[in-house]
Amino acid sequence: AKSAAEFVPASQDLARLREAAAGCRGCDLYRDATQTVFGEGTRKARTMMIGEQPGDQEDRRGEPFVGPAGRLLDRALDESGIDREGVYVTNAVKHFKFRRDERGSRRIHKKPGRTEIVACRPWLDAELASVQPDLVILLGATAAQALFGPDFRITERRGEVLELPGDHDAKAVATVHPSSILRSRERDEAYAAFVADLKAAVAVL
Ligand code: SF4
Repeated sequence: AKSAAEFVPASQDLARLREAAAGCRGCDLYRDATQTVFGEGTRKARTMMIGEQPGDQEDRRGEPFVGPAGRLLDRALDESGIDREGVYVTNAVKHFKFRRDERGSRRIHKKPGRTEIVACRPWLDAELASVQPDLVILLGATAAQALFGPDFRITERRGEVLELPGDHDAKAVATVHPSSILRSRERDEAYAAFVADLKAAVAVL
């Protein structure tokens, strides 16, 4: 199967990893997307947040969580007393997957499949090995399943303090993706529950 593995340098230097990720062709998503959107933050971060994949605005700007979901995340972090500067923020899949609408003008988000999640995983492992966070907050099912496998259910495990599987010595907490709050019909409740999850998660630090 195709994978990012052959593109990942043996380095813990985030700048080097980011540079190499820009040329990744580990799956087909690089073809239609504008650019690789690598994680953002410093190796000193004790918390890592992992989302699904870049959206339309992230794809254009090359930075994670800068669109509507990112603004909601910023507000929630602020309300939870978490400094975003102290958090390393990334995605399970580093290229934007989308389809065009009927007129071909709008790009509509498409959920990444298992193949892409598995293909992109070496970048996530490299980021984890470099940052060595104490806490990993998984935003949504894609991020959670990237690390815990395809059977992981957010609805059943949400908010639970888990041990991150594999070689990474870190706690993990799964919650929803901020974009699901934007789509929710009970937005206020969904938002409050999200903030509560974030607060409970950072309490393990
Ligand atoms: Fe490489 Fe991940 Fe982009 Fe696929 S989505 S090309 S594996 S960086």
